[in-house]
Amino acid sequence: MAPAIYWIRRDLRLADNPALLAAAQAKAIIPVYIHAPHEAGDWAPGAASNWWLHHSLAALASAYARYGVPLIIRSGDSLATLRALVAETGAEAVHWNRLYEPATIERDRHIKQTLRDDGLSVESHNAALLHEPWTIRTGTGGDYKAFTPFWRACRRAAEPEPPLPAPQTLARCDNADAMAGAMGRDPAATAGAAALESLGLLPTIDWAGGLRSRWQPGEAGAWARLEAFLPATLAAYEPGRDYPARPGTSRLSPHLHFGEIGPRQVWQAVQAQLARGGDSDPAARTESAETFLSEIGWREFAHHVLFHHPGFPDHPLNARFADFPWQADPGDAMLKTWQRGETGIPLVDAGMRELYATGWMHNRVRMVVGSFLVKNLRLPWQAGEAWFWDTLVDADLASNSLGWQWVAGSGADAAPYFRVFNPVRQSERFDAEGDYIAHWIPALADLPVKHRHAPWEAPAPVLESAGVTLGVDYPHPMVDLKESRQAALAAFEQIKKAG
Ligand code: FAD
Repeated sequence: MAPAIYWIRRDLRLADNPALLAAAQAKAIIPVYIHAPHEAGDWAPGAASNWWLHHSLAALASAYARYGVPLIIRSGDSLATLRALVAETGAEAVHWNRLYEPATIERDRHIKQTLRDDGLSVESHNAALLHEPWTIRTGTGGDYKAFTPFWRACRRAAEPEPPLPAPQTLARCDNADAMAGAMGRDPAATAGAAALESLGLLPTIDWAGGLRSRWQPGEAGAWARLEAFLPATLAAYEPGRDYPARPGTSRLSPHLHFGEIGPRQVWQAVQAQLARGGDSDPAARTESAETFLSEIGWREFAHHVLFHHPGFPDHPLNARFADFPWQADPGDAMLKTWQRGETGIPLVDAGMRELYATGWMHNRVRMVVGSFLVKNLRLPWQAGEAWFWDTLVDADLASNSLGWQWVAGSGADAAPYFRVFNPVRQSERFDAEGDYIAHWIPALADLPVKHRHAPWEAPAPVLESAGVTLGVDYPHPMVDLKESRQAALAAFEQIKKAG
């Protein structure tokens, strides 16, 4: 039997990996990662994603080294690289796990057909989703635009397949070391290292200290995160998930995005945790677990919507919003103020600073900063989407588009446009102790809690004794929340009338 190529993409793990297992049946396996950001259309990964990818590939190379098989890292045109590898190794089969972004689907279709025409056996597999987008259909055979019926249909469908084990052994091909650029006395360990550096994924000016201290990219890091979350946090996920100062959510999103862990594995681990029981009330525990699984469901829904509406990352699903009267923003001045977390609205600024420092932001705060950008500042959701794309370590085309169109009111199952989050009320409700604000905006940490949410309303002596001079230590609010809300609603009326 000839060797088989396993083309690694965003499935950076060994367990529950059907393409890897299929390729491992061959005489030898050639695992290759091909760096081809230009093939992602307009959505080449951003800076935070690149940082993550670098470290995740390094972890994966070490994992392959333990099997004695070098990970090959190349960059360039994917099809040409695969063909070159076929020529170098005599491989007769190529396997990969599917991705669902429109540009990638198109590329993969072409590559599959071309390689089959070359006489190779080519198979793609599902490692990323519980239910692939075309398998869940409405009664009339269409796609879903609302989450609840979508998720009900998923729950009615067959239970997710149990996850697959990691391969026990992997066989290397004869010239594996040479192909992987392995060097010295420990070829497996050095394989891929130079190639990885040459991809230039790390920032040239090191802004990534906050990311390093928060995250452990790679399969082991994903499992450490899940295993910490399940016993400690799952039972209180509902309502703990809503409080940004608490570690109330799993923080699995970047691991899921890069395929360091798969949803089938998360699903099974949650069921096992439920079966183990615990101290909390069983009904509350089950409800919490259901809510958590439904968040995995939102991830599935995002992929479903993107698959059926390939223009979703760029264009409002509700076409009426294409004519929304956004505000002019000369020199992107307002946008930059929002990006830097200097709006003068503490919950918004805390979120934007958390994002910049750690590559992640709590979901509730994502909704609040999004609403502030799109409604109070009346800047296009695509501008927020692009900033998140560059700065999030979990930046994901499906989930990011869904999140931004939800916020804007233009998407599938979106918040109605007239629902404008009041960031002060949100802050009082979900950061009642002001801890999140104090952490991300130390300048406000000495203010009494009740004034941290809206420091511009604090009496002058209170500000003075906390050492806060507005406009010096912390900005004045860049807009009046009430007036800007009214302006947003008036703008919405315009497109309503037009539609
Ligand atoms: P948990 O609460 O522990 O949820 C578990 C998993 O479910 C997450 O890891 C994630 O994979 C999935 N999930 C949870 N909520 C959602 C959701 N609303 N939509 C889709 N999947 C969800 N999520 C991304 O993964 N990538 C993005 O680029 C992204 N951009 C967003 C932009 C905006 C404006 C908004 C409002 C939300 C966005 N989300 C995005 C969804 C959500 O905020 C994150 O998935 C969540 O905060 C990740 O934290 P967690 O892993 O602790 O989530």
